[in-house]
Amino acid sequence: MSTVKTPSRQQDQGSPYDSLLARFNAAADIINLEDRYRQIISVPEKIISVNLPIKLDNGKVKVYQGYRVIHSTVLGPSKGGIRYARFVNEEEVKALAGWMTLKCAIVGLPYGGGKGGIIVDPSHRSEDELERLTRAYTRALKDVFGENSDIPAPDMGTSGREMAWIFHEYSRTFGHEPGVVTGKPLNLGGSKGRVAATGRGVMITALCAIEKMGLDPKKLSCAVQGFGNVGSWAARLLSQKGLKIVAISDVSGAYYNHDGLDVEAAISYAERNKGTLAGYSGGTKITNEALLELDVDVLVPAALEDQITDQNAANIKAKLIVEGANGPCSSSADKILDAKGIMIVPDILANAGGVTVSYLEWVQNRRGHYYTEEEINEKTDPVLTTAFEDVFNTHKEYNCSMRLAAYIVGIKRVANGIKMEGFY
Ligand code: GLU
Repeated sequence: MSTVKTPSRQQDQGSPYDSLLARFNAAADIINLEDRYRQIISVPEKIISVNLPIKLDNGKVKVYQGYRVIHSTVLGPSKGGIRYARFVNEEEVKALAGWMTLKCAIVGLPYGGGKGGIIVDPSHRSEDELERLTRAYTRALKDVFGENSDIPAPDMGTSGREMAWIFHEYSRTFGHEPGVVTGKPLNLGGSKGRVAATGRGVMITALCAIEKMGLDPKKLSCAVQGFGNVGSWAARLLSQKGLKIVAISDVSGAYYNHDGLDVEAAISYAERNKGTLAGYSGGTKITNEALLELDVDVLVPAALEDQITDQNAANIKAKLIVEGANGPCSSSADKILDAKGIMIVPDILANAGGVTVSYLEWVQNRRGHYYTEEEINEKTDPVLTTAFEDVFNTHKEYNCSMRLAAYIVGIKRVANGIKMEGFY
């Protein structure tokens, strides 16, 4: 499901890349990371900027700017989605690419990290225009993409539709190579379970945290910010595990019901309503900001970066934050949230279910053998619970936050890879 308008980020002191670097350096300090690894990992390997002239439906030409950032290829081909949003910028794509490197390392995938983006509001463009834009982006990056070099996937504002265009456009030059992109529609070599995967990972890692906290999921209330692919699946699966979903939101605003919302009804409403909750009457309308500050047990920010900053962190009442989005808490909020004793399942762990099933899609494409949804879940769930345990044990070992522990796990694996490969 895609949102109708692209939402906006809260004002913050720094960019998402500043947040990444602040955490990276704090984690690197804890483990006394040698300077050579610090230098290598703190910058992307490659930044590609492309200008894409597109003929609009009205006959005029408009040039769109796009990016692909390859942060790291130490542990394998770079992997990461492509974002279509009006606020996309180079610093954001750099941060998202860096988070992919750490995310893939934390779940133990044989991948590095990358990310792409185009500055476009997809809600203002027709399907034909978006197809031309996606094909132009693919042509511009045809020598970067490849099943053994750089493998894109969906992210905010893109879905299986765009992945099918990328696959087709790439195949026109290089022949049938479905492993060049993941998140494809099922009948074009996509994987069962891929659409639900990120939300499912949020549910799995949330349950791991709830267990560590000694809480009963059936007694917990939960607010979910964002009702796109990640938020809606997370809300659905968490409610199936007994959590009471009291608030959901999208760009149209937030909807609150103290007695719990009917998540299935909300999902069907949004599906019938062009992907938006606008006009949804299952709850009282509140603001997106108010949703974050609700007196709930669990908060799932699943919208976009910098939603919880030093401006509102002191007002957060949840005991547990599970980051469905990438970078929803800025580094300026870290100390405040930590001081409040809030348990955080950080983005690079909480939302790693998506790329884990992307990896299984890539494996299936290369083997030409396809798994059932049950098999996908059987393979994915333990990957996420093991990653959670690794991060949790690191958090205990170094007596640091779960976020810094996740960075430590990721950084150590990448640094080890660099060390083993050697320098020449
Ligand atoms: N865009 C998703 C993420 O941020 C998925 C990436 C992928 O599957 O490669 O994790």
